[in-house]
Amino acid sequence: MTPQPNPNPQVGAAVKAADRAHVFHSWSAQELIDPLPVAGAEGSYFWDYDGNRYLDFTSGLVYTNIGYQHPKVVAAIQEQAAKLTTFAPAFAVESRSEAARLIAERTPGDLDKIFFTNAGADAVEHAVRMARLHTGRPKVMSAYRSYHGGTHQAINVTGDPRRWASDTASSGVVRFWAPFLYRSRFYAETEAQECERALQHLEDTIVFEGAASIAAIILETVPGTAGIMVPPPGYLAGVRALCDRYGIVLVFDEVMAGFGRTGSWFAADLFDVTPDLLTFAKGVNSGYVPLGGVAISAAIAETFARRPYPGGLTYSGHPLACAAAVATINAMEEEGIVEHARTLGEQVVSPALHDLAERHPSIGEVRGVGMFWALELVKNRETREPLVPYNATGEANTAMAAFGAAAKKQGLWPFINMNRTHVVPACNITEAEFKEGLAALDTALSVADEYTE
Ligand code: PLP
Repeated sequence: MTPQPNPNPQVGAAVKAADRAHVFHSWSAQELIDPLPVAGAEGSYFWDYDGNRYLDFTSGLVYTNIGYQHPKVVAAIQEQAAKLTTFAPAFAVESRSEAARLIAERTPGDLDKIFFTNAGADAVEHAVRMARLHTGRPKVMSAYRSYHGGTHQAINVTGDPRRWASDTASSGVVRFWAPFLYRSRFYAETEAQECERALQHLEDTIVFEGAASIAAIILETVPGTAGIMVPPPGYLAGVRALCDRYGIVLVFDEVMAGFGRTGSWFAADLFDVTPDLLTFAKGVNSGYVPLGGVAISAAIAETFARRPYPGGLTYSGHPLACAAAVATINAMEEEGIVEHARTLGEQVVSPALHDLAERHPSIGEVRGVGMFWALELVKNRETREPLVPYNATGEANTAMAAFGAAAKKQGLWPFINMNRTHVVPACNITEAEFKEGLAALDTALSVADEYTE
């Protein structure tokens, strides 16, 4: 681990003490967590107050696509703060107009109107509301193995265990299985079979639910936290065709996949499919100031041309957040960050992770695209039994905890979800930095290997 100069353990201890006394953390049993006090961050690294520096293979929660403290974005926030820190959403404001223009220029097809929200979950809330109002239909379909956010509607369309405790079962949500060949629900042996059977299953579900009751299908274009399952060729085009056939609004949730993560501005570009609504957040300004939004098609925008849209937020299009978005998008363009994510992904990350899989029996599958990769860790490659059970905690999760501790000991901060580690560094990570993280991952995987059978 590379030591960081100027440690200050006393300050670190005070930060930790106040956190433990007063901060209530997300998704946690408050007494069972041990948050690391962070002293600073730059580029792909962050460090604590004890002089330990970590290479961040998580991009925070997969959002600092241009790394920490990018000087152009920091400067833009400072300039905007000096000029006009905030202004109410009903006015036309320079940074808001410019952010909307830059986003609309990059979103696929005719998604040219931008409704700004505070983050990803409320973008999903509004996308669903727009779809219901546009179609006059009540139900929403979403996939198992998905995450759409922590607010009421967003958590109800989520397909992972974070939903269970808040599932009101009353929101008109119908779930389906999306394609995932490695753990196929359709007994498929090829990508083509998986695709065809997943589409048939989706159509059957639509028909038996009553197509005329379904407002929207919401899908992560490439599911993120659920395991980075890049859909097989033809699947998203097939979903688009079903939506067209049955008058259903197609929503792509690109909160995690958007803004360069997959090596394209939006993952939809990889498949050449245009949804009716697209949600974004995270990478839009690398989360330097909270911001999310919905990109809206011409047809849905038309629904609200003469009829008021019944929804809004005090901070919709917050000038500081929008200035950060403008600077982020411009910096990504000027520095070729999206292309970098694509080429580094193809030429370096993919071969390196497949090479790890050759040497580590704990790796069941490597999958991903751009700077968006998952290693599925298994006990047994033949049976594909996950290294830890679904949603394991405590002792049942020992193998993943040991893997995580080993990575951190090597100075690598890993992304861990259930039996997977995701390799999701900043999209502008250098090849040398990536290789440093790879070496640490290699060592940590040897620990995971000890738990295989
Ligand atoms: N949608 C997807 C695909 C996400 O990955 C997330 C967060 O991880 C969300 C929505 C929710 O975003 P937020 O946490 O900004 O509300």
